[in-house]
Amino acid sequence: MLTTISGFDRIGEENAFAVLARANELGAQGRDIINLGIGQPDFETPDHIVEAAIKALKDGHHGYTAATGIAPLREAVAVDIVKRTGVEISPERVVIVPGGKVTMFAAILMFGESGAEILYPDPGFPIYRSMIEFTGATPVPVPIREENGFAFSADELLGLISDRTRLVIVNSPANPCGGVTPKAEVDKLVAGLERYPHVAVLSDEIYGQMTYDGEAHVSILSYPQIRDRLILLDGWSKIYAMTGWRLGYSLWPDALFDKMCKLAVNAWSCVNAPTQYAGLAALTGPQDAVGEMVAEFDARRKLVVDGLNAIPGVSCLMPKGAFYAFPNIRETGWQAKPLASALLEEAGVALIGGPDFGILGEGYMRVSYANSRENIARALKRMETFLARGAVAKRE
Ligand code: PLP
Repeated sequence: MLTTISGFDRIGEENAFAVLARANELGAQGRDIINLGIGQPDFETPDHIVEAAIKALKDGHHGYTAATGIAPLREAVAVDIVKRTGVEISPERVVIVPGGKVTMFAAILMFGESGAEILYPDPGFPIYRSMIEFTGATPVPVPIREENGFAFSADELLGLISDRTRLVIVNSPANPCGGVTPKAEVDKLVAGLERYPHVAVLSDEIYGQMTYDGEAHVSILSYPQIRDRLILLDGWSKIYAMTGWRLGYSLWPDALFDKMCKLAVNAWSCVNAPTQYAGLAALTGPQDAVGEMVAEFDARRKLVVDGLNAIPGVSCLMPKGAFYAFPNIRETGWQAKPLASALLEEAGVALIGGPDFGILGEGYMRVSYANSRENIARALKRMETFLARGAVAKRE
């Protein structure tokens, strides 16, 4: 009998991957499955980025790099941050990591242990809670409510902080609800955090460039008063359609930077070199593809929300960011997870049930609109037909 640490009895998972596997399995059996489950752009990485990786390989970039990443990439990240947020940061604080997830893994590992409390959004990205539980810390959910436009309430969040709180995780624009926290709420959060100097903040801004209707993304980096305890999570996966490359970056305050570097050396050494050159080309090359992708997501967003609201029993707020809609399905009489499963198995539409993102996700589904307009329209039709049939069956 092998005995592992107890954390492995508590570690969770990301059900989107299980849904993807099942959808692929059904597809391989010849079923026509429309996937609105997975959180990755359906666009290809732009050519000039792919070419940069090929060139890096041909130029002989085959070895380890510095654990923090190649210098030109760290500099390009700093330049990009100034361009987007107006905040000057030193490239010396940037760590290039193999995907956005690695930053949350590292930050939660740094602060989580038995007796500690970590605040995280619910509904939220499932790995936050999973990792908090893995470390033995107590996960403290911060409710993300539909009536607040799926943004966190700073007052509610601040009210959950205790002497044991070590880390607060915030995510805007948010997965799975598509909410964008308004500036006034971020102002209030940052002002309130001054009362709790023992608390670090992990701000997951991986969807920071995906906002709509002129809604501005407010980076927590733009508040100098908490920069000495802010960990910023960002990366290339979503905005440059590079999920499979595994490339992200984090900014670390001085007090944590060396710890993060040591963790990198212990765990992954560095991100593979050609991918780093690809990331450099992404930041320094033409940005047209980014604009086009966000414009296309915007068009699909309206299509998906209008279509969902036309289905009896379903109501959906217009998301302000990311590429997810989070319809309320309570009036259909279904629970979210059985509905997700029935839609996949019987109607060939893959979606994720809200409870996969936290207890407060019950009554909701996550619909990723990272699929073509045509497929979105077909999926909506199938959902409508399926639910109408279910309603008739229920009445009979
Ligand atoms: N943070 C959020 C909120 C996400 O939705 C995701 C991916 O879905 C990540 C981080 C992880 O991104 P990556 O694929 O770069 O690890």
